[in-house]
Amino acid sequence: MHELSLAENAIAIIEDAARRECFARVRIVRVELGALSCVEPEALRFAFASASLGSCAEGARLEILAVAGEGLCEACGARAPMETVYDLCPRCGIRPLKVLCGAEMRIRDLDVE
Ligand SMILES: [Zn+2]
Repeated sequence: MHELSLAENAIAIIEDAARRECFARVRIVRVELGALSCVEPEALRFAFASASLGSCAEGARLEILAVAGEGLCEACGARAPMETVYDLCPRCGIRPLKVLCGAEMRIRDLDVE
């Protein structure tokens, strides 16, 4: 399951940060979730809650910030916002846009104690 591997990866990053920066508990995890990532926020919350058990982020609140997608047309060079990975170039309409951003999930910051 896509969401579970993302959540496990996020927990690994958080645990690394906890060792490096010497914090014991994480209260809030803020992640940016791209509109083109195909991740269900509710499935991600569920996966995060399960992946965080026994880690310093157990019980932390997950705040999901939506990030718009942006793409580039390789035919005419236009850049445009994207809502799905199948969006065609709005200028020339010839080709689907190549995704520049919005396909990933990343941790923006943590509230720790
Ligand atoms: Zn184009």
